[in-house]
Amino acid sequence: MEHKKIWENYSSKQLKELEVLNKDYRDFLDNGKTERECVNVIVNMVEKSGYVELEERLKQGGKLKKGEKIYAVNMNKGILLFNIGEEPLEKGMNILGAHIDSPRMDIKSNPLYEDTDIAYLDTHYYGGVKKYQWVTIPLSLHGVVVKKDGTTVELSIGEDEDDPVFFVSDLLIHLSQEQLEKKAAKVIEGEALDIIVGNRPLTVKAKKGEEEKKEKDPVKAMVLKTLKDDYDIDEEDFLSAELEVVPAGKAREAGFDRSMILGYGQDDRVCAFTSLYAFLLCKDVKRTACCILVDKEEIGSVGATGMTSMFFENVIAELVNLEGKYSELTVRRALAASHMLSSDVSAAYDPSYASAFEKKNAAIMGAGMVFNKFTGSRGKSGSNDANAEFIAYIRKIMDDEKVVFQFAELGKVDLGGGGTIAYIMAKYGMNVIDAGVAVLNMHAPFEATSKADVYETMRGYVAFLGGCGM
Ligand SMILES: [Zn+2]
Repeated sequence: MEHKKIWENYSSKQLKELEVLNKDYRDFLDNGKTERECVNVIVNMVEKSGYVELEERLKQGGKLKKGEKIYAVNMNKGILLFNIGEEPLEKGMNILGAHIDSPRMDIKSNPLYEDTDIAYLDTHYYGGVKKYQWVTIPLSLHGVVVKKDGTTVELSIGEDEDDPVFFVSDLLIHLSQEQLEKKAAKVIEGEALDIIVGNRPLTVKAKKGEEEKKEKDPVKAMVLKTLKDDYDIDEEDFLSAELEVVPAGKAREAGFDRSMILGYGQDDRVCAFTSLYAFLLCKDVKRTACCILVDKEEIGSVGATGMTSMFFENVIAELVNLEGKYSELTVRRALAASHMLSSDVSAAYDPSYASAFEKKNAAIMGAGMVFNKFTGSRGKSGSNDANAEFIAYIRKIMDDEKVVFQFAELGKVDLGGGGTIAYIMAKYGMNVIDAGVAVLNMHAPFEATSKADVYETMRGYVAFLGGCGM
């Protein structure tokens, strides 16, 4: 199929909208480099738009009314948004669901050590990464350290120009003859991904008459002293910390024509942002609109903050209860009657690696919102396979609103593939299809997207939610 034109057809008003959206998008990427930071940013945004926290709403009591705006936060790492529609929940919701976790390196529980005058923090990478991409680039450290008394120290080091950054070393080319013989998966081993955090020893001047005190690991001691002085963190506090190492620096416009965005964490924050943006544009909706922004997708959607947890279902039960109609059957009906766009990225066709793709079923960067009827690989294994009837319904909505879209698969049939949260939601019996933005060099420290795709996808989400606001 011929790809539809995008850039050529935009009016000057649309081009302006596109630039505003993409500027906001870059800010979103810069301010939310971890799932916790994303949740903070989102809570600030939705509270300004009049959203009320579920706990607060439950305290207020009274029946749920149309037009109410509610949000629920899951352990500071996931968030659900609801715009209550005219119809009862039992009739189903229009759901957008994206994930806000991204591949990175997590700091281990006992991370700090010194070797030959260099201090390191030991890491365990999170999600699918090509490990060799993460060495010798400036890295920043984000996250929380929760102390025994319950206080939380929030860290974000390496983003301001005056901040220090961290890095993983790589062997110099002059001595790399053996390393370069290794397979790419083994060039940098997981245990070699430790970040360098110091090289200066702590010197303690001896008091008069006392002998000079020698630290066993003076460089490590210096790091610990800095952590204590600057953040009031002790070495044991790493035990109750969640610290993530991500590429330092801001998302940038890319290309002479500034047509693309290059930045960290676009899988899947590009879909999280566009979903959220579309969601907040919608004011009055017939069917209740729901936006799910969830954690742990990159490691299989497991755990209390992943899509497979009961959090989403529990919140729906609370809302049905607020409607005054609680029964298990009503909750099940609400879920089964829902429609969902699983807002997740797709792999953009890469001409430099053409052999990995089947071109006529590949997502082209700059050719619009991407729908994946199915993900999975090698015989569609593990895939949510969206229903033809539902796809026809979605096609009509998109065509009516003149959204430019394409249908794609993730790479060649036998070459691997990827999953999303679609199949987890599909188990409720609801119609779900993957829909999002094509990403070039997905899961690399810096990923690329097309500004036009960001814009079209946002428009597609708006159309899906009920054509509100546009
Ligand atoms: Zn991913």
